[in-house]
Amino acid sequence: AEDAGPPMPRHKVTAKGSNVPAAAETFEELRKRYDIPSHLMANLAQYGYSRPTGIQSHGIPILLESRDIAAISPTGTGKTLSYLIPVMAALGAPSASSKTQTGTGVRAVILAPTRELAHQIHNECLKLAQGRKWRIVLFSKATAATLADKNVRDKVDIIISTPLRLVAAIQGGNLELANVRHLILDEADRMLDPEFLSQIEEIVAACSHEGLQKAVFSATLPAGAEKVAMQMLNNPIRVVVGLKDT
Ligand code: ADP
Ligand code: MG
Repeated sequence: AEDAGPPMPRHKVTAKGSNVPAAAETFEELRKRYDIPSHLMANLAQYGYSRPTGIQSHGIPILLESRDIAAISPTGTGKTLSYLIPVMAALGAPSASSKTQTGTGVRAVILAPTRELAHQIHNECLKLAQGRKWRIVLFSKATAATLADKNVRDKVDIIISTPLRLVAAIQGGNLELANVRHLILDEADRMLDPEFLSQIEEIVAACSHEGLQKAVFSATLPAGAEKVAMQMLNNPIRVVVGLKDT
């Protein structure tokens, strides 16, 4: 295992909504309760983390129980794994290996406001997906062009992108998002700003599967963005993590 560094500070967490799933205090508890695939637990063990952070304890059960979430948790509190673990636990077989076209194609979309953030998420995603043959694509001009070939795009499982890049591909008719089950907005405050909101709305509209799960993660959520988020989400649970000693 890598050096996991100093333990994470503990945080005060509030979760509001209907039928909020119980938080899981340990990764072992999560595994037992939700039957997390062993490859995922093994990859997780590599990080050497002793226990889930506050947002992970609360957020992972919520997402694994197929609920929508608005999660507000400070920078550095482990938001990335809060959504990557449930998405990967739910993903199933790689599209490329599937014999039928049912239940395949892009099944998770992760949006970030900048290319740099998308790049970081992509790296984390690859680390956690080790040993699985999922195709995890960091969307760029170049990868978007390769997806113009239907044979290529049918084999993609997860896309990580900025909103603008994805909207361009949708408008160009080079992307099918009708089978997406998980739509994650990371650092959502900037993307829910009126200036960018129409891009998000276009992506949400393209993710037309009735079982779509939506998740909003951010360090802060200004009132306007929060209102938009709560309207976009379906019966969401709102989780707020605050530093205990501040
Ligand atoms: P955020 O998105 O909330 O800013 P990140 O997901 O980038 O936070 O995680 C911040 C740091 O904490 C990263 O180095 C990550 O690897 C580490 N980390 C994530 N989960 C845990 C955990 N359960 N215990 C210790 N460190 C963790
Ligand atoms: Mg983050």
